[in-house]
Amino acid sequence: MRAFDALQIYFNRAADQMDLTENMRRLLVIPKREVQVQIAVEMDDGELATFIGYRVQHNNSRGPMKGGLRYHPQVDLDEVRALAALMTWKTAVVNIPYGGAKGGIAIDPMRLSRREVERITRKFIDEIHDIIGPDSDIPAPDMGTGAEEMAWIMNQYAKYHGFSPACVTGKPVEMFGLPGREEATGRGVGILVIKLLGRLNRKPDLTRVAIQGFGNVGSHTAKYLSEATCRVVAVSDISGGYYRPEGLDLSGMFRYTREHRGTLEGYTEAERISNAALLELDVELLIPAALGGVVTAENAPRIKAPIIVEGANAPTEPDADEILFKRGTIILPDILANSGGVTASYFEWVQNRQHYQWGINRVRQELDAVLSEGFQRVWELSVERKVSLRTAAFMLGIGRVGRATVLGGIT
Ligand code: NAD
Repeated sequence: MRAFDALQIYFNRAADQMDLTENMRRLLVIPKREVQVQIAVEMDDGELATFIGYRVQHNNSRGPMKGGLRYHPQVDLDEVRALAALMTWKTAVVNIPYGGAKGGIAIDPMRLSRREVERITRKFIDEIHDIIGPDSDIPAPDMGTGAEEMAWIMNQYAKYHGFSPACVTGKPVEMFGLPGREEATGRGVGILVIKLLGRLNRKPDLTRVAIQGFGNVGSHTAKYLSEATCRVVAVSDISGGYYRPEGLDLSGMFRYTREHRGTLEGYTEAERISNAALLELDVELLIPAALGGVVTAENAPRIKAPIIVEGANAPTEPDADEILFKRGTIILPDILANSGGVTASYFEWVQNRQHYQWGINRVRQELDAVLSEGFQRVWELSVERKVSLRTAAFMLGIGRVGRATVLGGIT
């Protein structure tokens, strides 16, 4: 199923609960603007290469649009469009004053040199600088991008518009970044897992966890949860899965990835399993934190974890979601579960505009406060309306965006 169609199914389930009219649905679903650009660069070997870059701006009724930039070979317009819409609902669920956007380039950064990635990033900004900016659309890291790419974006944007650190978030701390931004998405997943376990009367130390993905989100989630006494028994990355029923040596794995360009390829201190097998392990908690669309109607009946927390964006297909819901599996949806990243990005943007920097303790406290409030609202709505946490989160987001749209005047 196409990513945008899948998202519409979730949207419509919530919209049905809210008796939203067809006209209002169309208004809230169709993106405001979609841009596709050609990125032509010279590669290190002197050859010319041409890539396609996308930026989709979905909705700005609650504030400037905000969304990550993804570098992955499977990026296409449909995926970017779905991720942009997801950002609209996500920023509304945690009530930060933004709309939704997303960008992407179909490249595999692991197969390119850093100089090549830099040239591609700068050329992309040359093409879209006039539609992004601190008051209109603010990019951030996503899969395949990190602080270094964000620094290049800030620098390239400044060549056209002057000094403007708030034009992008997720920058290096030494360059107007926020202490704690890098860990924020994974930390947020961890904070929300502990809240959810509390509500479900489960103890962290009796919770075995499997995490798909060991990049920014997966690794920081693993760290937070192991410090909170959960037992992380499996993680995976593009090289496959690593399983140790008595608990993984996470510090050793972090060290290993630092020494091997970010990958676990060749790590031998755990049993090797496939990425598919990781999803079906006998654990209490499954956290997909890599690609979208990995939990499908095909593998859902074999998923044993009673709790799924969506660190990744759109990891669960709607028909799988239905199978799991009927079986009583609790799913904390992406638009709440991984909202710690955009929340910390918001803190970074606020500080860039004030030319003032918070310390890490304040960042962590405020992150906890924003996520706790979002969790509380979604949980209560789900109990009150007898709907899944996903439908409740969409209802909260759609309600807020819908009200802002009407208050701002539609025509
Ligand atoms: P990342 O690039 O830092 O890490 C991605 C991880 O996924 C890596 O470990 C990589 O090896 C693994 N991976 C890639 N292809 C895979 C495959 N085919 N099978 C299994 N694993 C594979 O990315 P990230 O920033 O951690 O993002 C992960 C997910 O979280 C994405 O869905 C992203 O949209 C979402 N997310 C990220 C942020 C953020 O702040 N970085 C915020 C919200 C949501």
